[in-house]
Amino acid sequence: MALQQKDRRNHTINKLKRKTLIRLRLLSVTTFLSIFLIGTFTSPSPMKEIEEGVKNEVANEQKRTLESTLTNSKRDDGKVVYLTFDDGPTSATDDILEILQKHHAKATFFMLSPHMKERPNAVKQMVEEGHGVGLHGVTHDVNHFYHSKQKVLGEMKEAQKVLESITGIRSVLIRTPYGSVPYLTKPFRKALNAQGYELWDWNIDSRDWDLTDGKYVENLIYQIQSLEGNGATPVVLLHDQSKTAKYLPKLLSYLTKQGVQMKKLDASVEPVQFKCYDRCHYLNT
Ligand SMILES: [Zn+2]
Repeated sequence: MALQQKDRRNHTINKLKRKTLIRLRLLSVTTFLSIFLIGTFTSPSPMKEIEEGVKNEVANEQKRTLESTLTNSKRDDGKVVYLTFDDGPTSATDDILEILQKHHAKATFFMLSPHMKERPNAVKQMVEEGHGVGLHGVTHDVNHFYHSKQKVLGEMKEAQKVLESITGIRSVLIRTPYGSVPYLTKPFRKALNAQGYELWDWNIDSRDWDLTDGKYVENLIYQIQSLEGNGATPVVLLHDQSKTAKYLPKLLSYLTKQGVQMKKLDASVEPVQFKCYDRCHYLNT
């Protein structure tokens, strides 16, 4: 009898334990879900928002450039493509330079000053091998770079100084981080102009950042064909990175077969610039 009672008591205790356990589990699942949902649906971080905004702007810009840059970059004789590599030099630069040389191609590198300081030999090699060298600033941070006119000018001046100390070349070719729209406002543009800088955006974005497995090459070929069909000279945005280098031979072989000359940008070429229209505005406005 006593045993039966004990059994029953144990049984009730076990039941209670189980119920408590189930409640605890339910509570933790609910908590986890709430945290997850709050994280998902509340507004993203300002930086993420800015990056998304920039991406959208750039995507929209791609559509517009098909028409708006045509007048800027009419071809002279033969087919020409201007390849540009941003954000270097990096550990991929040596490979990129080797591939370019193999295909008798010239390109232009828009570089960040800390990276130039890290790899001065790569920068020298670019110049020795006849490539164009341009400036991409110091921080590559939207919030910092586009903060004020002084910051924009200061970053470009610093990059110019570093490039000159390595190569002796005082380049005025510049590309601002993520392209000039929307944060390079008209006063910023004016100030850069007044200092003699020549702003370069692009009319073809390879999307070599997010098109992996070499898909960027197909994307580029398609866009180059469309742009050439319109009579404009392609100015292609690429990045100095290993996943771009990996598939670069494929792109250059294609262009070579098409009889395309790959040249560097210089002062004789009319720059491709995204136009502000009513889209340019100061950060956080
Ligand atoms: Zn960049």
